[in-house]
Amino acid sequence: MNVFILNAGSSSLKYQLMNPVTKNVLAVGICERIGIDGVLKHEFGDGQELKIDVSMPTHKEAIELVLRTLTDGEGKVIDSIDDIEAIGHRAVHGGEEFASSVMVTEKVIETMKKLIPLAPLHNPANIMGMEICQELMPGKPNVAVFDTAFHQTMPDYAYMYALPYDQYTKHGIRKYGFHGTSHFFVSNEARGMLDKKHNTRIIVCHLGNGSSVSAVLNGKCIDTSMGLTPVQGLMMGTRAGDVGAGAISFMMSQEGMTINETLDLMNKKSGILGISGKSSDLREVLDGMQEGDDRCRLAVDMVAYNIKKYVGSYVAALDGVDALCFTGGIGENSALIREIVCAGLDGMGLNIDPTKNNKRSNKARDIATNSSAARIFVIPTNEEYVIASDTYKIVSGLEK
Ligand code: ADP
Repeated sequence: MNVFILNAGSSSLKYQLMNPVTKNVLAVGICERIGIDGVLKHEFGDGQELKIDVSMPTHKEAIELVLRTLTDGEGKVIDSIDDIEAIGHRAVHGGEEFASSVMVTEKVIETMKKLIPLAPLHNPANIMGMEICQELMPGKPNVAVFDTAFHQTMPDYAYMYALPYDQYTKHGIRKYGFHGTSHFFVSNEARGMLDKKHNTRIIVCHLGNGSSVSAVLNGKCIDTSMGLTPVQGLMMGTRAGDVGAGAISFMMSQEGMTINETLDLMNKKSGILGISGKSSDLREVLDGMQEGDDRCRLAVDMVAYNIKKYVGSYVAALDGVDALCFTGGIGENSALIREIVCAGLDGMGLNIDPTKNNKRSNKARDIATNSSAARIFVIPTNEEYVIASDTYKIVSGLEK
């Protein structure tokens, strides 16, 4: 069975064609600049690349182009659309309505529409992707896999904000958390890598352009760093993370900014970019630090210190830790960030081995010393596999 995995954003869409049973990836690609000019980057399972510059005025035309590329011409990997059995969609916000993946029905789309105020940029694009697939591939099952679903097991005292209670009952204002598919995948892999099978206490640091940490007890998320929206928690590429409400209102009055301008600043101009003044890309900021740029040094120190604080608080929430996991572009590749985060955590049972930490690999691995009480894992995330696998299970009736 081949599953077409779609991650539809506002001006781009990412796709993959994967067999979830064999884990064989036939093609991976991205359509960028939809509505502007249009670029399709299509990669075969072996990494060979194909770039097509073609106008894509709408998402529908972009998906049509992807389906044509998969079935015809230079990019062909399957004979026809009939070789796609199902479609798995990455969906961002499932609110409190979706605690697991679901078959896309009219009712599901209606519910996702009601959740648009919670994810005004993402949910409309996700819904559009679902509706276009239903139109272009009639009769094929579509499954929605939500970024928020894995975090629905958080207890109320972890997800509530201490605002007047009716803000929660009237507007659903609470922490939801994101990157759930990655937190699930990585924590699940980590459980498999641990010797103990019960009372597993796992902390996952998903560190990419967007970053979040989660605490996972026996496979269930009990806390996570992102909130009602992804701006909360860790300092990220361009997002501020945790900032006091007083600082925000003071900045607004000093700068004469509207709430939307302020949110734009906190989402797109803050974080690593805002502090370094150089880039949102950690690699460039690490290079800047090497060259002696003190604001780049500050950005790197802040990134690592923020992660460390969350790790410490989640050790407390879990009453100990069995495995600390690093994933995402930064977590998988930056030995330096892992080293600074873990420095001084020996008292919590986390003892990193510098040689293992510095060894490059794209495989899941343990970088703790042999005598470390808890494990430290680097685990490449695979959100697409979770989407394909959930889609397969739901479509084949293995899971309701
Ligand atoms: P996204 O959240 O968009 O999926 P990624 O998970 O790909 O992003 O992570 C992107 C981040 O990973 C960037 O900040 C990038 O600099 C960082 N990164 C990638 N490779 C390295 C590396 N070798 N060393 C340090 N940072 C890296």
